[in-house]
Formats: sequence, C-alpha cells, structure tokens
Amino acid sequence: MDEKVLINLLVEVAGLEEDLAAAEHTLSHHATRGRDLRELQAEYEEDAALAEAGDQSANVRLRGKENEIRANETALALKRDQIIGVSDRRQHQALQREISGLQQKLETLEDEAMALLAAVEAAEGGREDAEADRVKQETKGESEIGRLEGEAAEAATARDKLALDLARLVGMLPEAVKRHVQRLQKNGGPAVVRVQSGACGGCFGQLPTQQGIDADKGRTLVRCAGCACYVVHRPWR
Ligand SMILES: [Zn+2]
Repeated sequence: MDEKVLINLLVEVAGLEEDLAAAEHTLSHHATRGRDLRELQAEYEEDAALAEAGDQSANVRLRGKENEIRANETALALKRDQIIGVSDRRQHQALQREISGLQQKLETLEDEAMALLAAVEAAEGGREDAEADRVKQETKGESEIGRLEGEAAEAATARDKLALDLARLVGMLPEAVKRHVQRLQKNGGPAVVRVQSGACGGCFGQLPTQQGIDADKGRTLVRCAGCACYVVHRPWR
C-alpha cells in the first residue's frame, strides 16, 4: 500500500477513534448523572416521608392531650356535683382540695395542649415544604433524566455504528499495521493520534523535529517512541 494512502486511512482511523471516545464519554457521563439524580430524588422522598411522619406524630400527641383534658374536665364536674350535697366540714374541705388540684392540673394540661398545637402547626408547615421540594425536584429530575436517556440512546447508536466503521477501516490496513492498531485498541487506548505542535497527541511527548514535521505534512508514517501510537495530521479541508 502506498504510504500516502496508508496515512490517509490512519487519519480516518484517528477521527473514528475520537468520535468513538466522545460517544463512550457521553454514555458514561450520562449514566453517572442519571444515577446521581435518582439518588437525589430518593433523598427528597425520604425527607418528605420523615416530615409526614413527624406531622402525624405531632397530631397523635395533640389528640392524646385533648383526651386527657376531657377526662380531667369530667372528673372535675363530678367533684363539683359531689360537693353540693356534702355538709360535713372535713369532707367538704377534702373535696375542695381535690377540686383545686384538678383545676390546676387542667390549666397545666391546657398549656401543654397549646404548645402541642404550635408543634403541630410547625410540623404541618415542614411537611408542606418537604412535599413541595420533593415535587419540584421530581419534575426537574424527570425532565433531565428524560433528556439524558434520549442523548444516551443516540450515543449508544452512534457508538455501535462507529465501532463497525472503525473495524471495517482497520480491516483495510496492511497486515502489520492492522495487528499493531488492534493491539493498542485492545489495551483501551487510541492507536492513532494527532500531531500537536510537534508533540504526540497520545502521550504529549515531544517528537523528534523531523518526525513532527513529517507527521504534520503527511509525508511519512510516524510512530511515537513514547506510547507506540501512530501520529498523523488533522484531516485537511
Ligand atoms: Zn506518544
């Protein structure tokens, strides 16, 4: 194969390798971002569930206190009825003390109920805020996840096509070059890179001056002594 033809083929291989790497990058980035968004959404759901539970528990405590108040009021009414019919002085005094005690208890219970009512209102506010945050995040997250999934599907299709095109192109290379390219690709790196201001675009090592020029002009086939990649120029327009 004519060296110029071979260099042109490798320029195309480099382009496909770059596009393939970009598609792989999109896929990996979008998968990570999608996972992060789902984790964030789960946190908001957990917060909303906790706030909901907090609200329920505050309501339960308030209802318990209200029941205590009603029981106390019933007991107080009973003692007040009893005291009317009592003529014995000591019995009267004893009942009077019980009534005072119940009245004090009632005042305390009512203060406690007021505090619980404030707690319920705060918990309801917290629950509403947490639910609003959850819904907001869900709406935002779902739309971003939808966009990411669409882009990832496109990138996956592009990646499959690029991989086929690349394999076909590599198959056209002379046997020795092909084996070398396939070995480098199997190791995960690119096999053909661009010359960048006289340096190798794979390992960024400076090439011997003449090699840098030759690679840049497409004159001879250049391989980097540092990373073993073929070094070629950008496509000419
Ligand atoms: Zn290199």
